[in-house]
Amino acid sequence: MTRLTGRCQCGAIAWSADGPVLWAGHCHCDSCRRASSAAFTSFFGVQRAGVAWRGAPAVNRSSAAVERGFCAACGTQLFYRSTRWPTETHLFAATLDDPVQFQPKAHFHWAERVSWVQVADSLPKFAGSAEGAEPVENG
Ligand SMILES: [Zn+2]
Ligand SMILES: [Zn+2]
Repeated sequence: MTRLTGRCQCGAIAWSADGPVLWAGHCHCDSCRRASSAAFTSFFGVQRAGVAWRGAPAVNRSSAAVERGFCAACGTQLFYRSTRWPTETHLFAATLDDPVQFQPKAHFHWAERVSWVQVADSLPKFAGSAEGAEPVENG
């Protein structure tokens, strides 16, 4: 069992999750880009029931199906939950206490990526979500 821990920038909110990590990757979708104010975001999925919080994240409903949790004090994005994956919480790799624990396996929503970041890794790249899809590029 992998135990992962993380926190927001100011430390008001911390999380811990007992593994396993269900998937891990980078998301290039427009919504993640805006929510994280970054070219893309890096996150991973764990069982929702296995996530514990210290402090209560504020919640932004970014679409009808999606809740994005963040620290109301410092603004750090902390989680993504969707009715599409009702048993999962998606946590942002940049909030890990030990970022090396993050081992990305794919790029998602590759079709929405910005042109001003060049990715040279060998991970599979999916046009949208990976579910039931073949990568549009391999490496
Ligand atoms: Zn904070
Ligand atoms: Zn996204």
